[in-house]
Amino acid sequence: MQSESPLFIQRTTREGAAAMAGSAAPAGSSAAGSPAAREPAGRTLPAGQALLSVRGLKKVYHTDGGDIEAVRNLTFDLARGELACLVGPSGSGKTTLLKCIAGLLGTTEGEVLLDGARVTGPPKKMAVVFQEYGRSLFPWLRVAENVELPLKNAGMPKAERKARVAEALEAVGLAAVPRSYPWQLSGGIQQRVAIARAVAYQPEVLLMDEPFAAVDAQTRADLEDLVRRLWKDLGMTVLFVTHDIDESIYLGGRVIILSSSPTVVQEDLLIDLPDERDQLETRSLPRFTELRHHVYEEIQRAKRGHRPAGTAEPA
Ligand code: ADP
Ligand code: MG
Repeated sequence: MQSESPLFIQRTTREGAAAMAGSAAPAGSSAAGSPAAREPAGRTLPAGQALLSVRGLKKVYHTDGGDIEAVRNLTFDLARGELACLVGPSGSGKTTLLKCIAGLLGTTEGEVLLDGARVTGPPKKMAVVFQEYGRSLFPWLRVAENVELPLKNAGMPKAERKARVAEALEAVGLAAVPRSYPWQLSGGIQQRVAIARAVAYQPEVLLMDEPFAAVDAQTRADLEDLVRRLWKDLGMTVLFVTHDIDESIYLGGRVIILSSSPTVVQEDLLIDLPDERDQLETRSLPRFTELRHHVYEEIQRAKRGHRPAGTAEPA
């Protein structure tokens, strides 16, 4: 399939940024082929309009075996309240990028800005859900205590903490297990606890790194809908890393596709599906199938070493 012309795939552009705030933008209004569509970097917003900005981010790991350039040059913005997914080949630096955004890793070049302020350590307004829930929950703390811990650390009064924990556990469907220990629960339930802990904190920005990779398909569908519901209810800004193409299209309004390493943004794609998503109906829309083909092709191209114009490896 030639992914360019017939589908009117819409890259997000600077001009198209305003459309991101609404639901579905008119398909094809900035179709592939226009100069803006060839913009290799991710979508950026005018100064002051982005909640999260990644600017020229480069990350090199210095190891005994030599330097490993995990991320070459990444630039994109997230508007407040946006839910964007990030996909890319394995080893393309998705986890590295998330750690840099979360202030858990320093950048080699470039910067991350949250509300205009440079991120130099874990920001208070941010929460992260990692793939390895087994390692992210404390086994000696009960479910409710795990969820409560970050609130305690933030110095929140006890009554407010208890209310937040109860509300978050209710939201993820776990009101009945507050006194269980994580190891007594299945993987999918443990991941719900990790999500409850993140949302109880009510972060402005929620970063999720392949959070559902290890849960079964039915639980995964439930958790996807849960994330969408919490995103809408709490007005969070979400950056969701996944290697599941269908999940990346189903979840949000935008898919940022990374090239293979050394990593740049290969494409920043607007998901022009109706805002109301339904596991069966949305996934059976012809447009869903078109977008899935397109993202699949792009990832295959990335795996073959394709890079956007202007970012080719020097010979
Ligand atoms: P992804 O999450 O997309 O699979 P990662 O961010 O985990 O990619 O890794 C990107 C590249 O950086 C890989 O080549 C990986 O081996 C390397 N890498 C990741 N973490 C480290 C580290 N702590 N030290 C050295 N190299 C690392
Ligand atoms: Mg990873």
